[in-house]
Amino acid sequence: MIYMNHSIAVIGAGTMGNGIAHVFARSGFDVILCERQQNILDRAMATIAKNLGREVAAGKITDDQSAAAFARIEGSLNYETLAACSLVIEAANEDLNVKTVIFQELDDITSPDAILASNTSSISITKLAGKTKHPQRVIGMHFFNPVPMMKLVEVVRGLATSATVKETVHNLARQLGKTPIAVHDAPGFVSNRVLMPLINEAIFAVMEGVATPQAVDDVFKLGMAHPMGPLALADFIGLDVCLNILRVLQDGLGDAKFRPCPLLVQMVDAGWLGKKSGKGFYEYTLKT
Ligand code: NAD
Repeated sequence: MIYMNHSIAVIGAGTMGNGIAHVFARSGFDVILCERQQNILDRAMATIAKNLGREVAAGKITDDQSAAAFARIEGSLNYETLAACSLVIEAANEDLNVKTVIFQELDDITSPDAILASNTSSISITKLAGKTKHPQRVIGMHFFNPVPMMKLVEVVRGLATSATVKETVHNLARQLGKTPIAVHDAPGFVSNRVLMPLINEAIFAVMEGVATPQAVDDVFKLGMAHPMGPLALADFIGLDVCLNILRVLQDGLGDAKFRPCPLLVQMVDAGWLGKKSGKGFYEYTLKT
């Protein structure tokens, strides 16, 4: 196993990045949370404070533990401070070009022993690793939303990922109180290869007038005991994220069944991205 100091970094402080920073800080790691924009960083820190407060209210952690966890997170608008980190988790937008630039920068800045993980939902770890000089240390560490609550981490081993890096990441996930599940590198891994066609078909059903979004979701909640219907889940994930994943599945697997529903494309074009934009299949009150 690789020796890990307690210094890690998260790139991107959006929906997933703030949750990943939260769970590492709660487990005693010092976290640098990197963003491009100060206002997003500020919003992420406010979200983390609120979510830690919820854990205090639920009796999961004490006030002191919450304050200590929050104090372990440092926001940053550049990568200069990342040299000492033994793990960097990238949680930027689901876009190969964006992630490639980040991985190439991280490859230069971090020590060659540091692990570079991506929280990507669908992009090939092998491809990302292939853009770096040290592909053996690149791995997928796929958390689920909301990160503080969801137990699963899909650990994705690329073609070149070393067994030691895989073992270290499995161990780390357990340290966070999560359950790692090993999967091979294939488009959408297991989770999104199975989930996204369901969401996409639910959107086709709405587009074709088969049922309203609420009715589609109720079918899944009442008939299949899903805690959340597929359209509410799509709003929660982000409709732009869903569209990007479907495109990766379509390109990578070449099967027409993964073609994104035109209604999904239109909604993303309109800026209706789900919960984070205030409108998707449902309406939401935006946090200020
Ligand atoms: P998001 O749009 O909420 O956040 C992405 C953040 O990354 C943005 O705040 C953006 O400003 C920032 N960013 C982009 N480029 C950056 C850079 N160069 N340096 C620093 N920050 C940068 O997206 P998200 O929903 O948090 O998704 C992030 C990743 O996690 C994606 O790869 C997505 O597929 C994956 N994922 C998402 C979910 C989900 O439910 N949303 C679940 C699992 C995995």
